[in-house]
Amino acid sequence: MTDGDTATAAASNSAGTRLLIVGPPGAGKGTQAVQIAESYGIPAISTGDIFRANVKNETPLGLKVKAIMDAGDYVPDSLTNELVSDRLAQPDAAGGFLLDGYPRTADQVVFLDELLAARGEALTAVVQLVADRDEIVERLRKRAVDQGRSDDTEEAIRHRQDVYLRETGPLIDTYAERGLVLPVDGLGSIDEVAARIDEALASRGIRPTASA
Ligand code: ADP
Repeated sequence: MTDGDTATAAASNSAGTRLLIVGPPGAGKGTQAVQIAESYGIPAISTGDIFRANVKNETPLGLKVKAIMDAGDYVPDSLTNELVSDRLAQPDAAGGFLLDGYPRTADQVVFLDELLAARGEALTAVVQLVADRDEIVERLRKRAVDQGRSDDTEEAIRHRQDVYLRETGPLIDTYAERGLVLPVDGLGSIDEVAARIDEALASRGIRPTASA
């Protein structure tokens, strides 16, 4: 079909804004991702949200990943990569996207590089939210009360922080070597942090599409 053909000839998409938002669990990635998506006119794609929706709806994928997520461990790369590949193939991601919570392992970094290369694309920037550990644990405890997420028990929170430090922290260096990382202080109100992100993106010539 014409749509599919056009999507394959994706070199024309090289002008799109393709962002990652990274940072430890509880740094506020999800909240900021939604804001960025709105201002920059790109879809926010959260692997955690997609997995949670599958768990909630008891899909075959959801049934496979529930116990893993509840323990605070990472879903296997094969499942996660396939999910992202499917999601990025949808039309709304053709002109750009913001990935939240992906990539989280070295294997996922390679997979995403290859996926984008096949589309004639590359990442535009990586927003790194920086927040200290005490603040984060406090926020996650609060979220446990507000949202009742089953992986927001104290033990799972601590475990997710450890897994992040071990598996995902080092990936930021990979992107930093490519000159893509924009560190942003994640402490403060939602609006304060959003303003800092706008400033950081503007330094790369990336500007909101909507007038805020
Ligand atoms: P948080 O950032 O608070 O840990 P997320 O919503 O990003 O929360 O992720 C929740 C859970 O979903 C993770 O603990 C993990 O089990 C699973 N998950 C999300 N993204 C990935 C990923 N890229 N690779 C592996 N597992 C993932």
